[in-house]
Amino acid sequence: MAVAIFVVSHWVAAVFFQSFFLHRHGAHRMFTMSKPWERLFHLGTFVAMGASYLDPRGYAIIHRLHHAYSDTVRDPHSPHHHPNVWAMMWHTRDEYCRYAHRGEQPEARFDGDIPSWPWLDRIGQRWATRIAWLGVYTTFYMVFATSWWQLVFLPTHMVMGPIHGAIVNWCGHRYGYRNFATADRSRNTLLWDLLMGGELFQNNHHRHPNRANFAARTFEIDPIYPVMRLLSWIGVISWRASADGAAVRSDNAQRAA
Ligand SMILES: [Zn+2]
Ligand SMILES: [Zn+2]
Repeated sequence: MAVAIFVVSHWVAAVFFQSFFLHRHGAHRMFTMSKPWERLFHLGTFVAMGASYLDPRGYAIIHRLHHAYSDTVRDPHSPHHHPNVWAMMWHTRDEYCRYAHRGEQPEARFDGDIPSWPWLDRIGQRWATRIAWLGVYTTFYMVFATSWWQLVFLPTHMVMGPIHGAIVNWCGHRYGYRNFATADRSRNTLLWDLLMGGELFQNNHHRHPNRANFAARTFEIDPIYPVMRLLSWIGVISWRASADGAAVRSDNAQRAA
């Protein structure tokens, strides 16, 4: 039971921080927050993503490239230019490393205005740190696993981020329905995306990249959007004007009143 709770909690926490902090805040700048809050969510991202922690700048650059060149040969992770999901993810890793590790500079429009905590970002990406996380996960299993077969879930914790990336990037541009005739091949894979925190509404998101709510139709549910509205309501985040939508405008109006 403890192992099941650990696997599910790690999955949910990693999805939340990847979507809320790296994607919606870091790459798209949908909202702002004070420095202490930003540090707290940055630290939360480090803990939640653990062994597969991603540097916000490396993530933001390849994500902005994805939006600019979606499903063309210059897209860092289009499923339409790779024979299988493994090849796509290897190419994504390569593209990420160019900006996160090798000091390559992208065009200016893809860089800047990204949360940065140099010390944490450096530590978080070291192999020694990733191996230390393996020690943490292994210790948990040693203490709480009630049968040896439960160890099959242990590797999942080491590659939680890449698993999520593979599901979103592969399925979100291959399977599902389209609400909008975008120039790319993005799709909405699920009606209620509780699994990936709204990230599988790729077609909606490519049509309105800065819109805070990834759901666009009445039956679609993006579970992270209500969390963002709550954080806005209690004053933790402030919407940017580009995060369009009536909800955003009403939150800001209430705060100003
Ligand atoms: Zn996409
Ligand atoms: Zn995006």
